[in-house]
Amino acid sequence: MSASKSRKATASAASLLRIFTVPEAPESTLSKIEHALSEDLEGFLSQSIVALEKPLHEVEEDFCAFEIPDEPTFVSDYTEEMMQSLVAHSVHTAAPSFIGHMTSAMPYFVLPLSKMMVGLNQNLVKIETSKAFTPLERQVLGMMHHLIYGQAHDFYQHWMHSADHSLGAFCSGGTVANITALWIARNRLLKADGNFAGINADGLMAGLRHYGWNDLAILVSERGHYSLGKAADLLGIGRNNIVAIPTDANNRVDVDAMRRTAQQLHQRGVRVMAIVGVAGTTETGNIDPLPKLADLASELDCHFHVDAAWGGASLMSNTARQLLQGIERADSVTIDAHKQMYVPMGAGMVIFRDPELARAIVHHAEYILRRGSKDLGSQTLEGSRPGMAMLVHACLQIIGRQGYEILIDNSLQKARYFADVIKQHPDFELISEPELCLLTYRYAPPYAQQALTQAIASNDWDKVSKINAVLDDLTRSIQKSQREQGKSFVSRTRLQPARYQRQTVTVFRVVLANPLTTEQILKDVLNEELEIAADKTHLLAKLAQLCR
Ligand SMILES: *Cc1c(COP(=O)(O)O)cnc(C)c1O
Repeated sequence: MSASKSRKATASAASLLRIFTVPEAPESTLSKIEHALSEDLEGFLSQSIVALEKPLHEVEEDFCAFEIPDEPTFVSDYTEEMMQSLVAHSVHTAAPSFIGHMTSAMPYFVLPLSKMMVGLNQNLVKIETSKAFTPLERQVLGMMHHLIYGQAHDFYQHWMHSADHSLGAFCSGGTVANITALWIARNRLLKADGNFAGINADGLMAGLRHYGWNDLAILVSERGHYSLGKAADLLGIGRNNIVAIPTDANNRVDVDAMRRTAQQLHQRGVRVMAIVGVAGTTETGNIDPLPKLADLASELDCHFHVDAAWGGASLMSNTARQLLQGIERADSVTIDAHKQMYVPMGAGMVIFRDPELARAIVHHAEYILRRGSKDLGSQTLEGSRPGMAMLVHACLQIIGRQGYEILIDNSLQKARYFADVIKQHPDFELISEPELCLLTYRYAPPYAQQALTQAIASNDWDKVSKINAVLDDLTRSIQKSQREQGKSFVSRTRLQPARYQRQTVTVFRVVLANPLTTEQILKDVLNEELEIAADKTHLLAKLAQLCR
């Protein structure tokens, strides 16, 4: 802490006891924060969007001390200082003009409920520390299971609260959900057989020897999320054995190409362990042809996982649901509640079609997770876990399926509106249409778009590539300036559109899930980008010269 500290606190057994019992005085900074959070959430949060003026290296200066302070600090001094150094420089992810990432606004009731959750501090690893939270979590998993697979009443009666079974696993996010799904796929493939005790006992090497395979592979679209690579690394399969399959012009995986790859792998003695369909790619929001992937998985007799971390919430809209048809044939499905379900971060789920699936990873211990106990920890990768499922439960009950349908349909409509505005605007080019509420576009003045069209017509791909290179610089530079101005935020990524023969281009990416984002805000975002672009005189001159 800084030297500006006025009062000096001293450590004593008595003062330490007090911090576990005594609430803050009503006029303290902490109480003011609590008051602001409950009375004027937007006002409190928006203190932070200014933030972006200060460059990161300056913010880092506030966090340079490396010694644990020897002497204690008064709570009030600490919070005051954190308002300056931390809160003031946090990113206002709930701002309606913050449309670049998957984090959005949250319903007001989530905050007090989170506080209650932290206060109760239940540990979901075992019943002994989470008596009511464990059944609640199982119920949430059951509801998500029903949303995907729609089994009958008896099914849920039978399995939802059954020890040694689970309809899914609650975890910190999509990454752990994907790892869990592939962990199960791997263990089910290399199961105990004859003198082989199973991969979980004898290891991967012994498993491959026993079954006579040279290697394992996972097939997924080139738009697959990087967490799958982490999973392959962790599971001993190796990142290079996640085989990236090309996508079509709409960023959907080419299932025929996947089938050909599977055949080639088979000839080389490589066993396809799982195929992964993406339902809502992180970069473009597109959905793979799930029914065709399900067919291929059954041909190959392998695990079929659907990564619907972002897109899965769309199942709650009866209109959007059609787009995810085939998901009910997946062995496992990842859904993040902290993306389109308006729950704070730390809420991921993987759902299993077959309640027996998790047996492939069951782990028992003597002091907890005993056989026959209902401890969730025996079937999850993570150990100690918070009661985040309560916040999902709250949103599911309070918003309801119909409420989510309205929110999701509105987001889709907003994305289509924005796509239309971009398409009609002479200075912008829509790069990917929104299938869900995610789209990409870039700044490209009319003369550049004309020059590109002409160059394509005359097969001058060198010229196309030169123009795209300058447009890339412009996009990057505009995106950075917009972020630094701190009024609005779009993200950027790199894609290979079919129109440009898969040349890589840099694009703006927007996710329109915040219910408070208005059509006017979207128009303002474009106008701000136009103003910023007008100042990039050096790049514009270069572009104009190229396009002459
Ligand atoms: C966000 C995302 C993930 C990873 O989820 P985290 O919650 O960030 O761990 C995985 N897959 C897809 C498609 C995603 O959009």
